[in-house]
Amino acid sequence: MEDIRLEVLGITIPAIPNVHYHDDGFVDSIDETTSGIYGRYSINKDEEYRLELILDRLSCGKCMQIIKDDTGVMKHTMEYTDRFMEKDVHIVYSKTKLGDPSSIMSMTTRAHEETHALDLIRRIDLLEDRLFEEQRVKIDLNSEHHEIKAIIGMYYALKSRGRGILSSVLASPKLMLSFVAEESYFQAYKIYNRSKISKKEYYSIINPKTTS
Ligand SMILES: [Zn+2]
Repeated sequence: MEDIRLEVLGITIPAIPNVHYHDDGFVDSIDETTSGIYGRYSINKDEEYRLELILDRLSCGKCMQIIKDDTGVMKHTMEYTDRFMEKDVHIVYSKTKLGDPSSIMSMTTRAHEETHALDLIRRIDLLEDRLFEEQRVKIDLNSEHHEIKAIIGMYYALKSRGRGILSSVLASPKLMLSFVAEESYFQAYKIYNRSKISKKEYYSIINPKTTS
């Protein structure tokens, strides 16, 4: 049994019995990799699975949790459960969509998926500890939506590399697109910063030309 190392977050999870983590790296196709992983675990490829593959073609990264439940059935689930015989968590990210592995977008995508993994392994408290070290404020992540947690993980990865969140967004057109299009980025930003920043202020920072 080995400790689990989340590379980009820089967090190590002490070994947990029957829990296995796999960082499958940059792949050419997330849908083909998913299909291969499900095949390996003999997961039933039903209607829901086919729908998932369509989404996979649009995604930059993915986290999968495969559980052998307490009756011995293998299944893919994003539920939080402690009732399992074995738990395998896989993360992958798209080489084709992300391009340069050293870009901000690649780094933040990996941090996002690693945070999903941390959450599914049920050790999101380790990220809370890091945020506490950084800000001296206890941020309770448990009650937040899993996507909000993953975005906060991205912000943490940027900050831990000495990068400003908003200046990084400005430097990455793809990240900028998510920032503008997805409400959850704003929610996560507020939680991360424990700030009372208004939406208007936020947009005036990320796009100074359209607001005055
Ligand atoms: Zn996500």
